[in-house]
Amino acid sequence: MHGQDVVLDGVSMRFGDFTAVQPTDLTINAGEFFSILGPSGCGKTTILRMISGFLDPTAGDVRIGGKSMAGIRPNARPTALIFQNLALFPLMSVWENVAFGLEARGVPKKVRRERAEELLAMVALTGQGEKKPTELSGGQRQRVAIARALAVEPAVLLLDEPLSALDLKLRQHMRSELKDLQRKTGVTFIYITHDQGEALTMSDRVAVMNRGVVEQVATSDEIYNLPATPFVASFVGEQNVFRGRLSGVDGEVARVDTPQGEMLARLRGKAGVGDEVMIFVRPERMGLGTAGAGTEPRNRLRATIERRDLEGPFVNLHCRAGDAPVTVHLPNSGDAASSLASGETDLGFRPTDAIVMPVGELA
Ligand code: ATP
Repeated sequence: MHGQDVVLDGVSMRFGDFTAVQPTDLTINAGEFFSILGPSGCGKTTILRMISGFLDPTAGDVRIGGKSMAGIRPNARPTALIFQNLALFPLMSVWENVAFGLEARGVPKKVRRERAEELLAMVALTGQGEKKPTELSGGQRQRVAIARALAVEPAVLLLDEPLSALDLKLRQHMRSELKDLQRKTGVTFIYITHDQGEALTMSDRVAVMNRGVVEQVATSDEIYNLPATPFVASFVGEQNVFRGRLSGVDGEVARVDTPQGEMLARLRGKAGVGDEVMIFVRPERMGLGTAGAGTEPRNRLRATIERRDLEGPFVNLHCRAGDAPVTVHLPNSGDAASSLASGETDLGFRPTDAIVMPVGELA
């Protein structure tokens, strides 16, 4: 098996007056694990359906392996699709399910059987071929569906929220299995999800979508640490948001006047002095006490602790600084942090741990 690249060239989709996908340019590399992440209704599935050929773009061109897909039917494309509510054939054995696509292509039974066993081994289901799908667990059934999709040797596997019907533990386990499988096969995986944890853990790169627009395409690290827009910053992970007015810029560092005092942060995007801006600081980047901001005399807040939640490895403090809610995640060291429950505290963050952006839509 080998992967091919997928290029969207000015691709858009309108349904009547409604534009589900705005004109989009996107290159997904051959052999890449690529996720499209966004809230319900943002247009993820519509993009997948245009790649698979079940929907023709209103404008633009989809190319796979350098070849335009215009006018090419779904079953003639080098793609295979896996859904959330995949349907295995209940009366067929597991191996017959896996080999189903090969039968339609006229592959003889003996070869089909061998190929099915190879694929079952690849998804860690050796020896399960004679069972019926109902005799398998949810996670095993999902692996059969993946083996079935891979049987026709697609260059691009399209996965539409394939894990959302599974319970949390199994979902987490399947993440690493899918990632391994993608590496082993070299097939290009395009994975649709509204679950940021899934997207960040598995992907080589992630596209974050909002209202039919791809707002950022980057590695997981960059999406989390250096979001390009307020939407991406607030959709992925948790954020503390402070609003203020830009009062100066010195290289990469911006100075902002806020109701909580003067703050310094890294400037992302275009903002000029006097513009209204938003500062984003992750709860795990907030520090407790006067040392929280390091040596920086600014970026300090006086806050009231309103609630304390224990979340296993973290102790989460929900505070208020003036009219801004502030959340702090402290590592659960079992002592000082854990005993903090109420009262006043100093908080701070380092300028390099905060990002300033022009005001925009939040998730
Ligand atoms: P979800 O995670 O809920 O599946 P999504 O991001 O995959 O959401 P899409 O299914 O791509 O979203 O839909 C994007 C938008 O386009 C939605 O507002 C949806 O209602 C609309 N839409 C999708 N298909 C059609 C259609 N055939 N006719 C009209 N509107 C449609």
